[in-house]
Amino acid sequence: MRVQLLPSTFDGSRASLRQHLTCFVIDDSVAIDAGSLAMSASREQQSAIRDIVVTHAHLDHIAGLPLFIDDLFSSLTEPVTVHATRPVIETLERDIFNWSVYPRFSELSNSNGPVLRYETFGQAEEFTVKHLTFRAVEVNHRVPSSGFIISDTKSTIAMSGDTSGTDGFWNLINSADQISAILLECAFPDELNELADVSHHLTPKRMVVELEKCERDCPVFVVNLKPMYRDEIVEQIRQMKLKHVEILEVGKVYNW
Ligand SMILES: [Zn+2]
Repeated sequence: MRVQLLPSTFDGSRASLRQHLTCFVIDDSVAIDAGSLAMSASREQQSAIRDIVVTHAHLDHIAGLPLFIDDLFSSLTEPVTVHATRPVIETLERDIFNWSVYPRFSELSNSNGPVLRYETFGQAEEFTVKHLTFRAVEVNHRVPSSGFIISDTKSTIAMSGDTSGTDGFWNLINSADQISAILLECAFPDELNELADVSHHLTPKRMVVELEKCERDCPVFVVNLKPMYRDEIVEQIRQMKLKHVEILEVGKVYNW
């Protein structure tokens, strides 16, 4: 399974490590979240991606979604399918695709047919997107949010999405047949523990508490570092000398 975290900021023409927006692309064909999808997907990815699985409706995870559909509007030969829970779809329709912020693409068609459709999944459900099998689990964020275990025929990875302390995600990981990699969020440095608490995110210390729930020996890649605190978070994680834990590299293609 090829997994890439798309960049969201640039220094000149070079991708920067500062990650304002979240969008993972699997096998160049399925997106998890769409934060930087319109801005950073390659031409090949743009023409192949027609399925987007959304963890939750916060802006940094969906900012590129309206723009992505807008860009492709006249060329789509099949609709873009957004896979999300019912509350996330309701938020997208009410607050984004509401004719005020952006057109309601779910009511629009081009000459080939509809341009946007929704597929609903429930928490604890298994569903298929292209060649991938997803198992969703509710995580602990300020809004309805999902983590996932994602499998192809060879490997399985886990993605926490945005979350604070949670048991369900780890129970799912511990009960899976095999896990090749875990992508775990860590948004704030330790001194912003209070902010992490009210916004339902992790800090390095909180992350360690979470990792104690993990019965797997696989690598853990830290994601969702708030760009203003990135250096601090990285340093705090380094000082902890945690086995198997590293920071996911923005833009790099991982093969698991
Ligand atoms: Zn969030």
